[in-house]
Amino acid sequence: MTASDPVVIVGAGLAGAASAWALAARDVPVVVVEQFAREHRHGSSHGSARIVRRAYGDELYVGLTGRAFELWREVEQASGAEILRMYGGLDFGERREAAKVAGLLAGAGVPHEVLAAAEASARWPGMVFDGEVVFHPQAGTMDADLAVTALLDLAVARGADVRHDTAATRIADGAVQLADGTVLRSRCVVVAAGAWVESLLGGLVPLPPLRVTQQQVFHFPRLDPSAPPWPSVIHEPLGHAVYHLAGGRDGGAADDRKVAEHDAGNVTTAFDRDGVVDPGSRARVVEYVERWLPGLDPTPRSETTCLYTETPTEDFLLDRVDDVIVCSPCSGHGAKFAPLTGEFVASLVTGDGAPVPDRFRLATHASGRTSRVSL
Ligand SMILES: Cc1cc2nc3c(=O)[nH]c(=O)nc-3n(C[C@H](O)[C@H](O)[C@H](O)COP(=O)(O)OP(=O)(O)OC[C@H]3O[C@@H](n4cnc5c(N)ncnc54)[C@H](O)[C@@H]3O)c2cc1C
Repeated sequence: MTASDPVVIVGAGLAGAASAWALAARDVPVVVVEQFAREHRHGSSHGSARIVRRAYGDELYVGLTGRAFELWREVEQASGAEILRMYGGLDFGERREAAKVAGLLAGAGVPHEVLAAAEASARWPGMVFDGEVVFHPQAGTMDADLAVTALLDLAVARGADVRHDTAATRIADGAVQLADGTVLRSRCVVVAAGAWVESLLGGLVPLPPLRVTQQQVFHFPRLDPSAPPWPSVIHEPLGHAVYHLAGGRDGGAADDRKVAEHDAGNVTTAFDRDGVVDPGSRARVVEYVERWLPGLDPTPRSETTCLYTETPTEDFLLDRVDDVIVCSPCSGHGAKFAPLTGEFVASLVTGDGAPVPDRFRLATHASGRTSRVSL
């Protein structure tokens, strides 16, 4: 390994693509290897809709969302792609701690309103609310497929070498071995391999226990497709947390609503997942739509699956051990931070720039901390 070797990034989902963009923008030579074709649907970053928002029940993440939005605007401006759709965000439910979310938004200077359930129902007909409801305008959806493409294209324009259909099989001694036997020498390796991270790094880096789950998402037709899309919603009633958002392209011509449970996936691995939608989840989500979303037709028009890779606390995992950087920002909420993840990786590579929060470091994950992020 020499300082003139490139940084090799394994994985071209949101995390790998954003790392490539951030490094190439700093004139660091980069090679990205991705085992599947462009726009594949086997990992965590496919599809047209992820929630972006400022609201969290956790001060650290409220702060990070601010920088993430600044960087998304840079990506949009540089690429010309319209990645964000800003419809606002709504948070409510018995477990959501609306007062805490509102307090944290106030502390960060983020404009927001706290509404009674009846006021919210009058403002957004077709949704049922209970308790206090927090609305903030700086939220909406992010198009994950468009984002990955934009980030990779920007990286290539700055000299990055991006290779699809190219699997890494082994990482050792400052080099990445590929499935065809080629060995890429690297200044350091960024492992942004999503649900595959353990198969590449187990034994090399002391990872915390990672839980891979297959999640299911459903698209429901809107009864009035001419109405403006509703804000993105995080609803935490008793039982499973549910989120829903405008589906974008995946929602078809009528922008069907994407509705899913956050924390109810089936435990699997990247190798064993079957891509079959769990009928139990479908039944619960249909029941949810019937109860809370009378503005939707409660028969899903389409459905799909996706992988979460979760740490025990749902904090991201971002750290460097010698010449290996582990970059696992999923836990079901990492998409909105993608360009900031790239910025953190760039700082781990160059030693310059925004420091990675302590909570994302391996040592903190190993410390036995158990309190989960309030998403
Ligand atoms: C259903 C669902 C809904 C979500 N909703 C939201 C949301 O609303 N808001 C939000 O902020 N976040 C959300 N997330 C989380 C977000 O999508 C993830 O945080 C993000 O996509 C993780 O990206 P990644 O690059 O880490 O992983 P991935 O997208 O899985 O990328 C890893 C890549 O590495 C490649 N790879 C693996 N092993 C190798 C190898 N050996 N050689 C070469 N390539 C390899 C894989 O093929 C893959 O392309 C959601 C996730 C899911 C699944």
